[in-house]
Amino acid sequence: MENFTYHNPTKLIFGRGQMDALPNEVAQYGKKVLIVYGGGSIKRNGIYDSVLTKLDEIDAEVFELAGVEPNPRISTVRKGVDICKTEGIEFLLAIGGGSTIDCTKAIATGAKTDTDMWDIVTKKEQATDALPFGTVLTLAATGSEMNRGSVITNWETNEKHGWGSPYTSPKFSILDPAHTYSVPRDQTVYGIVDMMSHVLEHYFHQTTNTPIQDRFCESILKTVMETAPKLLEDMENYEYRETIMLSGTLALNDMLNMGFRGDWASHNLEHAVSAVHDIPHGGGLAILFPNWMKHVIDEKNEGRFKQMAVRVFDVETSGKSDREVALEGIDQLRAFWSSIGAPATLADYDIEESSVQDMAEKTVVASPEFGNFKKLTKEDAVEIYKASL
Ligand code: NAP
Ligand code: FE
Repeated sequence: MENFTYHNPTKLIFGRGQMDALPNEVAQYGKKVLIVYGGGSIKRNGIYDSVLTKLDEIDAEVFELAGVEPNPRISTVRKGVDICKTEGIEFLLAIGGGSTIDCTKAIATGAKTDTDMWDIVTKKEQATDALPFGTVLTLAATGSEMNRGSVITNWETNEKHGWGSPYTSPKFSILDPAHTYSVPRDQTVYGIVDMMSHVLEHYFHQTTNTPIQDRFCESILKTVMETAPKLLEDMENYEYRETIMLSGTLALNDMLNMGFRGDWASHNLEHAVSAVHDIPHGGGLAILFPNWMKHVIDEKNEGRFKQMAVRVFDVETSGKSDREVALEGIDQLRAFWSSIGAPATLADYDIEESSVQDMAEKTVVASPEFGNFKKLTKEDAVEIYKASL
């Protein structure tokens, strides 16, 4: 592995009733609090009321930004930045899934600078500071609750970019698995696909000697695959929700990629699809990831795919070539995602061949090549999208 420094400053507050920790955590940072949330699920499931009750205990002055979209938009970030500057907000609290948390990271950063946040998201400018913020997670998926990453969409230019900074780690995140009982079946499935994809992005790298990281990845994949079908039969089972919630956090809190850099081409390919068609991130990944695998596999790297097939999918090896074993593993990944109801083709979202070129252009906006396991170009993106139609 390569040298590394691991420093994840987010305090993870996990388990039943952990909302009780909220007042003390927030009080350390200030009383003027902007709560940020999405389209209203937190009002229907009671989480909004519990947060307000808890903030009342410390006499917090609460401001609200509601309506953060799935695939959060730069226009909403700018609205939040205005509120922070006008009202002198001291602390932000994201209540929701990855979209709400990612939006909050951008608002917290924008509140501390005169630079427009789109210039920071597109890496033309650097973040220099951010307001402190915490999260109450309501959907297991992105890992945004314990990492510094954020993904923001610009609907004027149809671009969706990931960015992050040393200032965008949440101070704390409260994860009560019971808060995810009300997540609908489709969003639960997208979350499961997203967390598995994060593990897979880490798994496909070119650095040697990463045996512990490999086993961490394999154990999370196996655990999620074992738990997901049971959860989908019993959506308010605390233990299944608990296992999936912790898996989502561990999949992307930089623990799995100690000492190397993962691939991330499939995320780049998906961001380009959802920047043009506004589809759910996990749905897009389910379609694209197995096709990325089939596109990049070659004689030099097929051992990695074989390892996944054998260790994660228990593929039998006798009498088969390495390539056959590897391809069987990829087919099993597709079969598993289909078995839990994830989409398998772009046609499932009515995306047609006519938009392939447009999406492929978006994959190379930031740089002409993408992906680390194997460098890809726009032409590769075209082929992968065509194979996904
Ligand atoms: P999300 O977009 O935050 O939420 C999806 C939907 O789930 C929303 O409609 C939301 O409704 C609903 N929902 C959330 N919690 C709920 C609950 N407890 N009960 C009922 N409904 C609930 O989904 P996400 O998958 O977590 O986030 C996706 C975004 O994160 C994408 O933009 C993706 O690109 C990005 N992402 C970020 C990272 C990262 O590390 N930062 C990694 C991967 C992906 P309401 O709006 O009404 O609450
Ligand atoms: Fe993701």
